[in-house]
Amino acid sequence: MKVNLIKLPVIYGTAGALAGYFLLHPASMFIHQYYHDHMLGWGFLPMSFSGAHFVMAMYYTLIGLLAGILFGIYPYRISILLARIRRLSITDDLTGIYNRRYFFQRFKEELERSTRYGRRTALLMLDIDYFKHYNDIHGHQMGDSLLKKLAQLLNISIRQPDFIARYGGEEFVVVAPETDREKVLQLAEKLRSVIEKHPFLMRESQPDGKITISIGVAVFPEDGQSVDEMVSKADAALYIAKDLGRNRVVSG
Ligand code: GH3
Ligand code: MG
Ligand code: MG
Repeated sequence: MKVNLIKLPVIYGTAGALAGYFLLHPASMFIHQYYHDHMLGWGFLPMSFSGAHFVMAMYYTLIGLLAGILFGIYPYRISILLARIRRLSITDDLTGIYNRRYFFQRFKEELERSTRYGRRTALLMLDIDYFKHYNDIHGHQMGDSLLKKLAQLLNISIRQPDFIARYGGEEFVVVAPETDREKVLQLAEKLRSVIEKHPFLMRESQPDGKITISIGVAVFPEDGQSVDEMVSKADAALYIAKDLGRNRVVSG
């Protein structure tokens, strides 16, 4: 990164200075002669490198140098900015994991791939249990810290090519490509257990004495044929998990 920031302007700047000296300046003299003398000749060439035209040549060299440096800096700066914008547009501010936009984009692609190759893709929808209770007692800032920690824990507990995104306030989604029901239930159980065991700050104040999550699972193509159907199915399973008493996994 750092090397490019210096290397590119130097390379472009040198090229610009050379172009200014060897091309722009003689070209300007050529045009000058053509329009003012109505005469075409090659006499301007040796003349353009003579002492009398040295100052003019230096002007063009300088113009070339500056233009070269700008060309060296801007495409690079713009490519960095574009990468940053792209990253921001798919990242959740608070937790640093992918956001809802990325989830819908990627999940659609995963389902298309699964359809093409006749494979399964699993979707997990996770929701923190009694999170309002935690916020009400400890305040939103503590709630935010918990959300952040929980998202990080989930994120390091999944493996490639699975990915996690923040779906809404305290809801997350995990997409597990090429995963059947048996495997996704193992994954969901692992995530549930990781959160249940983690000693989150002030967790003893929660109704169950700990921070827990409920998980709804849906598997493509059995449980849904589209992104919307899969999300509905996982969501419905999540609500059943809540109804059954929370801190559990329910498959759609
Ligand atoms: P349940 O077990 O049924 O899921 O109960 P709950 O209290 O978790 O569910 P409910 O939907 O009633 O409340 C979700 C709460 O999540 C409401 C809101 O205070 C909190 N919340 C949502 N987004 C954020 C956030 O970004 N930061 C914080 N601190 N809290 C949030
Ligand atoms: Mg919720
Ligand atoms: Mg909740």
